[in-house]
Amino acid sequence: MTAIPLPHVASARGSYLYDEDGRDYLDASSGVLNVNLGHGDPAVIAAITEQLGQVAFVHRSQFSSRPLRLLTEQLLAVAPAGTAHVEYANSGSEANECALRIALAYHHRTGSPGRTVVMSEQPSYHGMTAGALTLTGQPAKVDASFAPLLTNGTIADGSRVLPAPGALRAGRQEWAAALDRAGRERVAAVFVEPVGGASSGAAPMDDETLRWLRAEADRSGFLLVADEVMCGFGRTGRWWGCDHAGMAPDLLTSGKGLSGGYTSLAVTLVGARVAGAFDKPLGSVVLGHTMSGNPLAAAASLAVLRRLRADELPARAARLGAGLAARLAVLAAKHPVITAVRGRGLMLGLGLAGRPEHPLAVSRALVSSAREHGLVLCPGGIDHVTESVMVAPPLTSTEGELDELARRLDAALDTLASRTT
Ligand code: PLP
Repeated sequence: MTAIPLPHVASARGSYLYDEDGRDYLDASSGVLNVNLGHGDPAVIAAITEQLGQVAFVHRSQFSSRPLRLLTEQLLAVAPAGTAHVEYANSGSEANECALRIALAYHHRTGSPGRTVVMSEQPSYHGMTAGALTLTGQPAKVDASFAPLLTNGTIADGSRVLPAPGALRAGRQEWAAALDRAGRERVAAVFVEPVGGASSGAAPMDDETLRWLRAEADRSGFLLVADEVMCGFGRTGRWWGCDHAGMAPDLLTSGKGLSGGYTSLAVTLVGARVAGAFDKPLGSVVLGHTMSGNPLAAAASLAVLRRLRADELPARAARLGAGLAARLAVLAAKHPVITAVRGRGLMLGLGLAGRPEHPLAVSRALVSSAREHGLVLCPGGIDHVTESVMVAPPLTSTEGELDELARRLDAALDTLASRTT
C-alpha cells in the first residue's frame, strides 16, 4: 500500500490544526487522545515558560521541586480511593513497566515469589517497551522479529484472555477460565483497559466483569492493574474509567491526558496496601528514568490538571460525549459502513464493516478521506475482530465544533462510499 503523504503542520489553536498551505483540520482525535485541553492553552504555555526560566531539570534523587510537589498533591486529590503513592515516568509504556515491577516486587516481599504470571486481554494495547509489548495482546503490533524481546519467562504463554466469538471484550466467563488455566496462586497481576483504545476502538469493558475481577483479586491475592493511559484524566466523562464500575484498582497507570500533549509525563498510581508492603521508598525499589518527574513536565501537567479540575472537564466530557454519540448514531443510520457506535464520554469509536481479505483497509481509507475533508480521526483497529476509528475531540470542544465534526465526517463517509462502490 502506498503511503499518502502527511500534511505539514504549521500551527494549532484550540480544536483546530493548520498546515503550511493554510488548510484547517478539526482535531477529532485530540492528537492521539492526549491533547485533552486542545492546542495552545495560554495557562499551560505560561506555566511552561515560567518554569523554563526557573529550572528545567533536577534529578529526583537530588532535589524535589515545587511543581512536582504540587502536582503530586493534586494527583492524590483526584486519584481513585485508597491511592497512597505516585511514581512518575515519561510514557504510558514506562508506567506499565513500572506497574509490572511493582507487582513482582510486591509479591516477593509478601511471601509469594512464585506469583509471576501476568495476564492481559487480547486484543489490548499496553505499549511498546519489552514488558509492555509482552502484555500487548494485539498481534499486528508485535512484529515476529520482536520475539526475543518478549518476556515469556514472567508473562506465561496462554495468559492472554480472548473475548467470546463475536464479542469485543472478554467477559467474566473468559476471565474465570483463563485464571483457572493459569492457576490463581501463580498470578501476580491482571492488566485491563477499562475502555480499550488503539486495541478495540473505544470498546468499554463490561462493568460487572471489572467488579468481579476486583473481588477475585481480593479473594485470590493477585493485583488488579487498570491501564488508563488513554482513558484516564476525564476522557470518559469520569476521572477514571474504573469509576464507571465504582471500583478502585491496586495500581493505575495513566499518561496522555495528564500533560495534555504539552510534554511527556505518565504516572503509576499505587494503592495503600501495595505501597505499605515496602519498607524502603517505593521509588528506590522500582527506580525510574532520567527525566521521570522533571520540573518542566510537572509544571505543564500541573497547569493541565488545574484546568481539568477548575473547569470540571470530566463532567463536560460526559455532557458533550452524549451529544456527540447522538450525532454519530445519525451518521450510522445513513452510512451502512458504520456497524456500531460505542465508547464513553468523549472516547467514542465507530465499528466499521471491513473486508477480511484486506485488514484495516476500510479504517485507513476513512482516516484518509476524513483528512481530505479537514478532519483528523484516530484509527483504532482490531484487525482480527473488526475495524474501527476513534472519535475523540478535546474535552474543551464547543457544541458548534461537534456540529462541524459531524458535517465533515458525513462528507468523508460519502467520499469513502463513492470510492468503494
Ligand atoms: N496503554 C494504553 C492503553 C495506551 O493507549 C497507550 C498508548 O496509546 C500505551 C499504554 C502506551 O503509551 P505510550 O505511547 O505513551 O508509551
